[in-house]
Amino acid sequence: MKQVPRIDFHMHTTYSDGHFTPFELIKKVREHNIDIISITDHDSVNGLEEAIGIGKDLGVEVIPGVELSTDVEDVEVHLLGYFIDINNSELKKYLSFFRDERYHRALRIVKKLNALDLDISIDDVHEVTNSSAIGRPHIAIAMIRKGIVNDYYEAFQKYLRDGAPAYERKIHVSPQSALKIIGDAGGLSFIAHPGHLKESILMTLINSGIDGIEVIHPSHNSYQRKFYRGIVSQYCLLESGGSDFHGGEKGDDDNLGRHWLDPKYYKEMIQMLGK
Ligand code: AMP
Ligand code: ZN
Ligand code: FE
Ligand code: FE
Repeated sequence: MKQVPRIDFHMHTTYSDGHFTPFELIKKVREHNIDIISITDHDSVNGLEEAIGIGKDLGVEVIPGVELSTDVEDVEVHLLGYFIDINNSELKKYLSFFRDERYHRALRIVKKLNALDLDISIDDVHEVTNSSAIGRPHIAIAMIRKGIVNDYYEAFQKYLRDGAPAYERKIHVSPQSALKIIGDAGGLSFIAHPGHLKESILMTLINSGIDGIEVIHPSHNSYQRKFYRGIVSQYCLLESGGSDFHGGEKGDDDNLGRHWLDPKYYKEMIQMLGK
């Protein structure tokens, strides 16, 4: 019997751009002896009811989460919401609006690829995914399947990364509106993987009332982990962490079972919620 629960608070499924269904993901999670996870699909909570049920059957606690994209000073900032009420009607309306926007953006990206003389259609993208939260990773995979690129990273590097020829921005959303949606749905809000953010942006988010920061993330080195833990302690925030596991073509299998949220920070979240 192990003493310390293993907790991963950042995971994706086929309900956004993850490769595995909730069942496949939770089976993997169980194989890695992970006890508690948060599923944080982009702009969707649609997989959570199913995931919570599967988690109960397989002995994994699933905390409802979501990952939202916002803009600060023209930089894309991801926010994580945890312990949200997945039936909150404002939250559901907000998410369905952004999924709709994602679909229209995917159409624009495909158009840009066609203008570059590349043979790909929105149907090719639909063949990759049933998800209604279409993201660039789906388009990257469709491009691999069409033989346009050799791998996922080539698709981003040549065409899809920020500023690349087929790049299209998502609609601008202020972090304040995302924080309100998460807060009103009873959740706690965290800055996801802040490693690429300027300190001024971090300060804007802290001043906007963010509850915490994702300190442990595969993209953070040990200096960054220390730095963000320092910020958390200085501003009396909460700490989160996880693998940001997507699986499949993204090639991030090694991240699963390697990035943990220390249970003491999990307990602090529970205390903050008054549970
Ligand atoms: P989207 O939400 O559609 O903008 O897609 C964002 C996702 O694409 C991120 O969560 C990453 O998984 C992936 N991504 C973004 N930029 C890159 C990049 N330069 N290389 C590889 N993957 C990327
Ligand atoms: Zn993703
Ligand atoms: Fe993210
Ligand atoms: Fe993520």
